[in-house]
Amino acid sequence: MKPFFLPICAMTVAAAALADGPSGNNTARTPMAENPFAQASTLAYELPPFDRIHDADFMPAYEAGMTEELREVATIAHDPRPPSFDNTIVALERSGETLRRVDNTFARLNACNTNARMQEVDSQMAPRLTAHADAIELDPALWTRVNALYARRASLGLDPEQSQLLARYHTEMVRAGARLTGARQTRLRALNQRIATLSTRFKQNVLKATADSAVVIEDASELRGLSPGQVGAAAQAAAARGLEGKWLITLRNTTNQPVLAQLSNRALRERIYKASANRDMSGAADNREVVVELVRLRAERAALLGYPNHAAYQLADESAGTSQAVQAMISQVAPAAMARAREEAADIQKLIDTQAVADGTTAFELQPWDWSFYAEQVRARRYDFDQTAVAPYFELDHVLRDGVFYAANQLYGLTFKERHDLPVYQGDVRVFEVFDADGAPLALFLTDYFARDNKQGGAWMASYVAQSRLRGQKPVVANHLNIPKPPPGQPALLTFEEVTTMFHEFGHALHGMLSDVNYPKLSGTQVPRDFVEYPSQYNEMWARDPGVVAHYAHHYQTGAPMPQALLANVLRAQNFNQGYATTEYIAAAQVDQSWHLIKAADAPRPDGVAAFEEAALRRSGLDYAPVPPRYHSSYFSHIFQGGYSAGYYAYLWSEVLARDTGEWFHTHGGLTRSNGDFLRKQVLSRGRSQDPRVLFRNFYGGEPDIGPLLEYRGLAAAH
Ligand SMILES: [Zn+2]
Repeated sequence: MKPFFLPICAMTVAAAALADGPSGNNTARTPMAENPFAQASTLAYELPPFDRIHDADFMPAYEAGMTEELREVATIAHDPRPPSFDNTIVALERSGETLRRVDNTFARLNACNTNARMQEVDSQMAPRLTAHADAIELDPALWTRVNALYARRASLGLDPEQSQLLARYHTEMVRAGARLTGARQTRLRALNQRIATLSTRFKQNVLKATADSAVVIEDASELRGLSPGQVGAAAQAAAARGLEGKWLITLRNTTNQPVLAQLSNRALRERIYKASANRDMSGAADNREVVVELVRLRAERAALLGYPNHAAYQLADESAGTSQAVQAMISQVAPAAMARAREEAADIQKLIDTQAVADGTTAFELQPWDWSFYAEQVRARRYDFDQTAVAPYFELDHVLRDGVFYAANQLYGLTFKERHDLPVYQGDVRVFEVFDADGAPLALFLTDYFARDNKQGGAWMASYVAQSRLRGQKPVVANHLNIPKPPPGQPALLTFEEVTTMFHEFGHALHGMLSDVNYPKLSGTQVPRDFVEYPSQYNEMWARDPGVVAHYAHHYQTGAPMPQALLANVLRAQNFNQGYATTEYIAAAQVDQSWHLIKAADAPRPDGVAAFEEAALRRSGLDYAPVPPRYHSSYFSHIFQGGYSAGYYAYLWSEVLARDTGEWFHTHGGLTRSNGDFLRKQVLSRGRSQDPRVLFRNFYGGEPDIGPLLEYRGLAAAH
């Protein structure tokens, strides 16, 4: 299987029961002066002092941080001096240190190493943080100053980055509702709070329902097709829940489940698929009511702010600009994707029919739970390799050092040194110090690659400290994946998809680590959603670059390079099943757009959620039973919890830029320092210090072109 959109960076949810994590040490509250968030960390790069942080520290730090920031903002807003860029905008950039420290750490840890107490803090803080942000962005005195500055921006003598910063403050306040008055603003604040509360409930429902929907297997023979390691992991997962002697298949966050590619037992495949697709559709964790209310409230908020719908409101601040632009892209890609998916389905059906004849059984019609299993067989026949032959060449540490780090060294001159002297929040986490080409210290890079029950699903990059010259801070960033942890003493052998995910997330990390801006608000990955996946998807291409692959794909025991024929097959296989992967993605993107194009009054009832989805897919020609959307609404965390509402299209939008960039490298000599440095100078170091569309143009020398994307995915011929 080639789930192309495996690298998903918004917070997504898969995992299971919530144990108290290692940070569950709940000592009594101590005075704020002793709170680890009270002062800047004295560790290298201001790395959070993970060894000193306890669950009980978060709430008091949040309280103190919010109080401090409100006091600082009040001083700025009521400054008797006339507003200037320095006494208003720069002062805002300097404010809220304590809150930023605690929130940067808490939010990151809550995603990757949560426990019941942290979830409780999250539930309590979500609406309060929203109210806190509203109190600042809707402060009338502050708005008067920012608005006055913005009105005379041309005469302030600002450099381009300063102009951009002022514009961001102005835009954000307008979008938050600063221009509203009286009852309308009161209503807006209430909507924001309710939306925050519902988003948290959505997240917790998904976590619970995903854990509850794990499939228990009584008879090991049903697991035929899994490797001994996977069977062992399933037994361990069952034992961890007190189900000794049984096996447990836990669910990933997506509709389709990776194990479906391996399981030959069709009835079990159907059980797993249905458990996945129907999670959150019943019982205490039913999310349908939450979905409908969120959609209604977002539509109402958009109307208050003067937009026809939530999609229009969201897209106005993205590179895409309008929902028409998004629909245009979807309709450019959809026919090519669907045509290829139908070809793939025909190949699969042929295989099902042939096998039925050979076995003397009755053939059946391809169902969603069959796709991966038979696609895998088609792939194996066509490309003649299986994962067990490939895995020994993709040992995690080799891939990291000789692949991911190697490419960054060749392109940007970066070097990496592991540090064992710094505290981490969990024993598997590793810390690397990153040095620039001239040997200067650049950043800290944390890796947290293994799956845990108390970690959200998917893969993402997290920023603990954002680079800014104003605050004199260098970046601390982390990559989180969910690679199954091997038994003690065993190497972690990866699939090529996992290798690609490592490169992808490292692309985000580079965007954070190479950031070279003055102001924290414009730093690193703080760019529009439909631009943020550009550096990461671009960086994926190095995973399959011949020069890079030759450097990292070595057998972990013998050191022998991967045989050429096998490597060629692995790389050719990357275009396999792209019809499915692209279609399931666009279908989800369309569901997202459809939810956010409606008016509040047009939201369905909770029992109409599935029908709403189906109708949306039918209208856009993406209703094709064997290829369900990558997420159904009730566990579509990106859009109902992760900040990607009306924005799931963003991955494909960014990928257009990424593939254009790949084409550019291809025509400019590939993996070289001068190419890498040019991209670094024009894009990777710039954060949002300039309009992202301009950054891309300055690098690429033209407007985005969809051709290289269709080519890269092998869809060009089907188009
Ligand atoms: Zn990403």
